[in-house]
Amino acid sequence: MKVSAQVVVIGGGVVGASVLYHLTELGWTDVVLVERKELTAGSTWHAAGGMHTLNGDPNVAKLQQYTVGLYREIERRSGQNCGIHMNGGLTLAGDRERMDWLRMAQARGRYLGMDMEIISPAEAKRMFPLLEEQYFIGALYDRDEGHVDPSGVTQAYAACARQAGAEIYQHTWVSDLRQRPDGTWDVMTDAGEIHAEHIVNAGGLWAREVGRMIGLELPVLAMEHMYLITEDMAEVAEYKAATGHELPMAMDFDGELYLRQERGGMLLGTYEQACVPWSPRETPWTFDQQLLTPDLDRIAPSLEVAFKHYPALATAGIKNVINGPFTFSPDGNPLVGPVPGVRNCWVACAVMAGFSQGGGVGLTLARWMVDGDPGEDIWAMDVARFGTWASLAYTNAKVRENYSRRFRITFPNEELPAGRPLHTTPVYDRLTAHNAVWGAGFGLEHPLWFQRPGEEPREDVTFRRSNAHPVVADECTTVRERVGLTECSNFAKYRVTGAGSAEWLQGLFTNRLPRVGRINLTAALDPGGHIVGEFSVARVGTDDFFLFGSQIAEAHHSRWFRGHLADGVRFDVLALSLVGLSLAGPRARDVLQSVTGVSLATADYPFMTFRRIDIGMIPAHVGRMTYTGDLGYEIWVAPEYQRALFDLLWQAGQPYGIGLFGFRALMSLRMEKMFGTWAREYRPIYTPAEAQMRSLRLDHDFIGRAAVEAELARGPARKLSYFDVTPDPAEPADVLGDEPIWHDGAVVGWVTSGAYAHYSARSLAFGYVPSELAVPGERFEVEIIGQRRPAVLLPEPVLDPAGERMRA
Ligand SMILES: Cc1cc2nc3c(=O)[nH]c(=O)nc-3n(C[C@H](O)[C@H](O)[C@H](O)COP(=O)(O)OP(=O)(O)OC[C@H]3O[C@@H](n4cnc5c(N)ncnc54)[C@H](O)[C@@H]3O)c2cc1C
Repeated sequence: MKVSAQVVVIGGGVVGASVLYHLTELGWTDVVLVERKELTAGSTWHAAGGMHTLNGDPNVAKLQQYTVGLYREIERRSGQNCGIHMNGGLTLAGDRERMDWLRMAQARGRYLGMDMEIISPAEAKRMFPLLEEQYFIGALYDRDEGHVDPSGVTQAYAACARQAGAEIYQHTWVSDLRQRPDGTWDVMTDAGEIHAEHIVNAGGLWAREVGRMIGLELPVLAMEHMYLITEDMAEVAEYKAATGHELPMAMDFDGELYLRQERGGMLLGTYEQACVPWSPRETPWTFDQQLLTPDLDRIAPSLEVAFKHYPALATAGIKNVINGPFTFSPDGNPLVGPVPGVRNCWVACAVMAGFSQGGGVGLTLARWMVDGDPGEDIWAMDVARFGTWASLAYTNAKVRENYSRRFRITFPNEELPAGRPLHTTPVYDRLTAHNAVWGAGFGLEHPLWFQRPGEEPREDVTFRRSNAHPVVADECTTVRERVGLTECSNFAKYRVTGAGSAEWLQGLFTNRLPRVGRINLTAALDPGGHIVGEFSVARVGTDDFFLFGSQIAEAHHSRWFRGHLADGVRFDVLALSLVGLSLAGPRARDVLQSVTGVSLATADYPFMTFRRIDIGMIPAHVGRMTYTGDLGYEIWVAPEYQRALFDLLWQAGQPYGIGLFGFRALMSLRMEKMFGTWAREYRPIYTPAEAQMRSLRLDHDFIGRAAVEAELARGPARKLSYFDVTPDPAEPADVLGDEPIWHDGAVVGWVTSGAYAHYSARSLAFGYVPSELAVPGERFEVEIIGQRRPAVLLPEPVLDPAGERMRA
């Protein structure tokens, strides 16, 4: 065994093997993989091996597409049979909502080049004669689906990696991990120590335990999962005889079922509602290529549906029932990337669909390690999308919710209840008393909208306009015509202090730093010129700054800032030690002026001022800006003052017709003002030139500047554009995000976000299209739930393009 290596990958399941393979592909060949038993000994060996490209997140779908396409290559290069069956797959819908979901999935796939087809129940029956047509109203057919041999794939990755110089030590258990002061690692195993520059936790079923070796509690939990294999069936043999090929795969939403042919019989798996976590606290190290005791009673409701929808299964003999554990994160996506706060420590775990996602996970992690950048938009898989709030019990609640909803639709306006409320701010009860409908982001509750008095604070989930629509319209009117009050604690807040802070930040940000007492918008880029983040920067002293950014990216962005930290600079995540309320609307100044002795006249407190002032008796930092685009203020206080602040503003606002507004109204109001947002318009796959960011100043040096200049010289290939969309008048639905944009009968781009702009009475959208088409007045179509709706590219915000309201 080597005594040192550049990388030690811990775990020889399909994911660890893929990471090892991809590292060697990128030229890191001094790499080893350590496996406590044999390759595949965790959850990999008993997987059903199914693979598909469909995913709710188009970026993850793209990585799944990559994974599925990789198998032929590793099979060819290794000579190891991967058992590839590209038999295509059907996703079957039994009701209108599911059919809508399939149409939207098909649409999302269009701009990724996925060739998926909506077919009728009769066509589905022709392709998959086992089904009873009457239970379905349609299906999505994807020819890029199939199944592989889990062991063959893992061995093929391993063989390719070995050919390139990687070493694999089986029957070698990593018992401890110790970091040296220089950031390198001593990997302790039962066969000796390896000194490594980097470690990768690909421990699968034991990823949590491997994390604990370094004091890390990863939000990952294993669930029991069952599938059964039937005896050979005459219907399967007949199909083979008639067509010459095997049956396609099938996914059936209604019974939480998936099916595929397994030799002469069928394999039938289910994500049962009465799901059961496995080893919820600790995975035993003694567990070794074992199966769990099947419990057919638990999956009986799904089997009943299966026997109804596929009657031939009811009479087929059961040859084998497999019950095995595999892991999930709270939202079902993998945990990938550098562990925040721990140098040279990487994870690739919680991969619940190893045969759809393992290749993409390996590729992006290896790129991240070798190039410093994952090279794709992997926000949905970043380990930093969870904070320390994702505790063991939270993970348990969310994973069970997620597992049981695997084949359920999560509507775009749906807020799932498990693990909530967890983080609340002091005004939570006040806002609840005002009938708030709550949402959660990064563990924190935030008000979405305020139901009318006497009505239940609940939103109907839908792809179309919900019961919130007219209420949110009123909230928007309150803001635009009088004054609205909302909570704005759901920003990430950071403080940067210490000698050299200004110089450090200036080297990170695309905009010049504001003067003391001022606030401005800025972006941070990677060396390739892609957007790392968008922030408001408030300067309260020469070397003293508040930064405000996207809350969901708090761990993601703080990892980035800390990774670039300069000597002498202190970077603090303020989290809920700073909370906020925001006043917006033409009467906002009147309200605030009535409770402070500081003059708020524009001459004294102009737009983009940020100062420490008292509001009543409350010490606050007040920024004169809002995301609604109105005259307005964001007022930041320590949490112990937030209730007093709320009461004071609410009282002071009564003569001015103050009303509460929530996140839904904010999204509508910002669309009207053409303000982009992080994770939608601004993501690491876009550049500031593409995103048309106004906060780009080339008068100073910053990370990514050379790439930006080069791009500006040649002109960006695509541009963020703003559209007025005409919804179907019979059944209006607004864009949600990720819809394809058509031009002249071809898909040319995609929507990043959209909303109904209540105050302007228009349905608006943002999206990226090729630069040559990004011309005001140009006509497009946006595909909304299977319908191509007209859209025209707008040159400027539909409301107050000169920005007079916010400067008033
Ligand atoms: C019944 C069932 C059916 C499934 N069907 C499908 C399917 O159809 N399609 C699909 O894509 N996925 C399926 N899956 C899920 C799939 O099995 C997982 O996504 C995949 O196996 C995850 O691989 P992994 O490498 O992350 O983890 P694992 O396979 O668990 O590998 C982790 C490895 O790390 C090793 N290890 C851990 N700790 C240490 C240590 N300290 N020292 C040394 N080695 C260590 C373990 O021994 C293990 O071999 C199914 C799972 C089950 C249970």
